[in-house]
Amino acid sequence: MSDPQQKSYKKYIPNPEGLNLELHLKAVETGLLHIQRCLSCDKARQPPRYYCSACFSSEYEFVPVSGEGFMYSFAINHFTVDRAWIEEVPYVTAVVQLVEGPRVVGALRNAEPQDVNLGDPVLVSVEPRGEEFAFIWVDKVQ
Ligand SMILES: [Zn+2]
Repeated sequence: MSDPQQKSYKKYIPNPEGLNLELHLKAVETGLLHIQRCLSCDKARQPPRYYCSACFSSEYEFVPVSGEGFMYSFAINHFTVDRAWIEEVPYVTAVVQLVEGPRVVGALRNAEPQDVNLGDPVLVSVEPRGEEFAFIWVDKVQ
């Protein structure tokens, strides 16, 4: 019999808008991490913006990327405001330097916080949740 004090909660699914919605729709449609790329000068950028910081062009596309990179920075979360994440605490929020250039933020899922170091090789992937949002996961390459 289950513990009546133990409730299960569903993880909050955000409703992205604008460019973030475009980014997440690409992930949901393809199951692949995408980043924005300038159609004028090819510069890749993340998070998505309406104008290129290099050439100020407003022309862009979202392109799939390998997800390969390394741990650029991270934070160990010992508290969560979303009760659905309570079983994951403590968990690592990772900033990954992608081989394609930009950095992305995701949640580390296959390593304990004490086993994470700056520079560790990682692989970023997406997991669609709903029709307009995808979780961004980071896995340490073993
Ligand atoms: Zn540009």
